[in-house]
Amino acid sequence: MQKCSQCGGKLRRVHRTFLERFGYMAIYACKGCEHEEFVPRRYRFHLGPHARCPSCGTFRIVKLKSPDRIDPMYVGVLNLVERLAGGRLFHCRYCRCQFYDRRRTAAEETAVPAEPPDGGQEITTPPDTANSDA
Ligand SMILES: [Zn+2]
Ligand SMILES: [Zn+2]
Repeated sequence: MQKCSQCGGKLRRVHRTFLERFGYMAIYACKGCEHEEFVPRRYRFHLGPHARCPSCGTFRIVKLKSPDRIDPMYVGVLNLVERLAGGRLFHCRYCRCQFYDRRRTAAEETAVPAEPPDGGQEITTPPDTANSDA
């Protein structure tokens, strides 16, 4: 984060307001075109209902059954917390990193069928009624 993404000019760090301190690691402003660059705090990726990559924040992650031998594990305190809390192993193909997350992915959320409207009564068929001796 050294150059302006708009004009390539030099960036200077600007003071954040009290509220902005919570949301952004830093805010830069371009000396050339007044364009502002916001650097979001990484922990934001750990908030919210769905699992996402702690590095780039994408929701397009895949669940791993076992650790990948090639791609590195994402290093971070929150990743360790997620792991100790029983998080599942995920992989981000954009960052090529592995990480843990306790939350469901956005894809899993949409794949789950809606709750039954009658309060969850399930119609279970005993296995032996399916047998026919005739
Ligand atoms: Zn600029
Ligand atoms: Zn990523």
